[in-house]
Amino acid sequence: MARTAAPSGSGTAAVLLCGKEEKVLGVQKAPGSCPYCGGGVAATDVEAKWALCCLPLCRKTKRRFACTACARRLVTYPAILHDD
Ligand SMILES: [Zn+2]
Repeated sequence: MARTAAPSGSGTAAVLLCGKEEKVLGVQKAPGSCPYCGGGVAATDVEAKWALCCLPLCRKTKRRFACTACARRLVTYPAILHDD
């Protein structure tokens, strides 16, 4: 049965939804290298905010790793590297 799957445009919709909002705080070079291609790894600090109809619910800062060469998101990047 065909459900009308709304095509979700090009990932940069900043408005709409009450819900999750992310703000990039900064990017820095992370130690180590990409397990896929050996390229450099960039650590992106992201502040994620959840809101329910303008009421802020919670806020959290997280660090996200991505390869600067092949642009893969390195979700399994070792947690040991989370020093300061
Ligand atoms: Zn890579």
